[in-house]
Amino acid sequence: MKRVLLILYSIVLVFKSFSQNSDINASVSGSSISNSTVSELPGMYFPGVSKILIPGMTRSQFLDACAIQWLPLQSEIHEWKPLETHLNKQLNYPEIETLIQNLTGSEIAKAYVATVLSEDNRKIYALEIGRGSKKVVFTAGIHAREVGNTQFLLKFATILVDKYEQKDQMVVELLNNYCVVMLPCINPDGYSAAIEGNTSLNNRELFLALQDNTEIFKAKSNAKGIDLNRNFPTYSSSILWKSDEIRTPYISNSPSINYFAGYRLGSENETKVVMNFLIRNIPYAFRYVDFHSAGRLIYAGKPHLSDEFNDLCDSTGKLIRNHTRYTLYGVNHEDSGNGTDGTITDFAAEIASGFVFNEKLGRLAPHKADSLIQKVDEVHYKCSVNTIETLRTSRREGYGLLRTSTPEMHVNEWLKYRLEELFFKLIKE
Ligand SMILES: [Zn+2]
Repeated sequence: MKRVLLILYSIVLVFKSFSQNSDINASVSGSSISNSTVSELPGMYFPGVSKILIPGMTRSQFLDACAIQWLPLQSEIHEWKPLETHLNKQLNYPEIETLIQNLTGSEIAKAYVATVLSEDNRKIYALEIGRGSKKVVFTAGIHAREVGNTQFLLKFATILVDKYEQKDQMVVELLNNYCVVMLPCINPDGYSAAIEGNTSLNNRELFLALQDNTEIFKAKSNAKGIDLNRNFPTYSSSILWKSDEIRTPYISNSPSINYFAGYRLGSENETKVVMNFLIRNIPYAFRYVDFHSAGRLIYAGKPHLSDEFNDLCDSTGKLIRNHTRYTLYGVNHEDSGNGTDGTITDFAAEIASGFVFNEKLGRLAPHKADSLIQKVDEVHYKCSVNTIETLRTSRREGYGLLRTSTPEMHVNEWLKYRLEELFFKLIKE
């Protein structure tokens, strides 16, 4: 806990020092921005950068994210009962909450709820299983329709806890040495909407509540129509540097079921909760994986980060590929610089690389950065960062997942790609 506070404090300190430094103005061409921060000027042109599409975070908004706390859930069970979770039934969010609560009946599992709720007022949970010092981090469910991965993470969590309670020697030893930390459902409003349709939204005014169900079942966004996986305040978020024009169909400039980054980076409650979770955990982890469902792929590496960091990601990527035979995309496949950056793995990768909040830029940046955007040459914390895309619809329907995945698809994926064994490989260093 002390170390966590120290890290949060040092992040604040560093951006404090940036706030006293106005050098950034010198690197802005045709600058007349001395009284404003760069982040408040979408559309300004920078040397080496074409355009910033949306503003970054202010210092107080970033501090709000740092100040989120995680309250421990108290166990209501005093005698452990095995928890069987079956993938052939789609759990709704209240059932997931019950399952998380029940996991805390074991001394090896701890659950926490964030002090900030989702935009439609649902609780966001983190789970910690194990007492070891070697930490591995998993997240899932940032995209609404990709509901399978939340269940995969929770199924693995119950397998670990059940085996521990049955005194399975391998698992007891594993959990004495390792700790698995997960955020199983980042976007609980989107998850609920993708399973139960528009009537699941509490606030009837929100974007998703106003959509018809055919649209909702295709949705990736949160309840407000914002793609959380574009909303993170990272060095390259919402920046065009490959060309002056938006040249991808994957950008929306208003609330949408897909591809809208928001009106400001870090604007969404879910984004802030995840930022806080990653700032707390990445410095102590050796591996982080975020789960999506767009066609049996693995992503490894970020073009603006160090070769050393990208090598770490490559080696986890190969471990996953060798087990699943999913296609591995390396650093050259990472689509960067077309305005679609600002993902959860961009944020985690930049924390691993020692980036800090830069008030002038309104986002994370390298320690001594005075401009957007430069390649860095070191890794700060030795934590690999990867995306796994499970599941795929048929070729006829397209490459990735185009609507809410089904329990049948989840059962098939779990068995065919031996995902339980994959998780066991991922949690070992
Ligand atoms: Zn996704």
